Amino acid sequence: MTLLLLAGTGEAQQLARHLADEGRAAVASLAGATRAPRAMGLPTRIGGFGGEAGFLAYVAEAGITAVLDATHPFAAQISARTARLCAAHDLPYCQLLRPEWVPVAEDRWTDIAAEEEAAAHIPQGATVFLATGRQGVSRFANLDGRRLICRVVDPPEAPFPMANGTYIVGRPPFSVDDEISLFTRLGIDWLVVKNAGGAASESKLTAARALKLPVAMIARPPQPEAPCVATVAAAMEWVRAL
Ligand code: NAP
Repeated sequence: MTLLLLAGTGEAQQLARHLADEGRAAVASLAGATRAPRAMGLPTRIGGFGGEAGFLAYVAEAGITAVLDATHPFAAQISARTARLCAAHDLPYCQLLRPEWVPVAEDRWTDIAAEEEAAAHIPQGATVFLATGRQGVSRFANLDGRRLICRVVDPPEAPFPMANGTYIVGRPPFSVDDEISLFTRLGIDWLVVKNAGGAASESKLTAARALKLPVAMIARPPQPEAPCVATVAAAMEWVRAL
């Protein structure tokens, strides 16, 4: 058996460590979005497969017998495609999908379906923290008249695509205290957040709650209709049962 672990999340890091500790034959795969990714402790391939045909060729060539998809809940294309191809080729597939965040009474969230909808809620003149990553930042082009600050993992290679925006660099995890200081120092009025779920990046929401800041919460894209687990422990159980 050789497992393909689709990575790009903290959970994938944890899974890689468990797989290595248990001596399981597995290859981790990263899209190559982060310039200096943390070592996975497993043989790792980096970069897209080159579409559907490239993925199938890789699976055949590397002798992959099962796929554990621990990509980000917003990495909709890779999950949908992999689930579909695995079903079509009788390859066991499981998605690790962490539960969504849900608001508590003190939270001031506005649910939005897509980045472009933030402009309907965030007033002119606001300073906005985009916790949504570099990818897709141009989808906030209609937030003119607001000051945009987008946090990215790697120092940006290109300037911010809109004149009213800047990047700040920061590599997670961030503590609640760090997030409170950052939002205060930057004079943040609104946050825009993807409903990624998970404890590791929840500190920004706890900080927003403490500071009574409103949050535009982007809903998750549709997920594959395929076997799915919610925790690293359950994903490892799935692997052991293969
Ligand atoms: P995506 O839109 O679902 O996928 C775009 C393309 O990236 C795929 O078609 C595939 O290229 C390649 N790809 C994605 N994940 C891959 C992996 N683990 N190994 C090899 N190729 C992969 O994904 P995305 O939203 O661009 O995210 C890219 C990566 O960043 C994912 O691994 C995800 O876990 C991580 N990430 C995403 C977000 C987010 O908000 N979207 C946040 C944090 C981390 P080919 O078609 O060439 O195979």
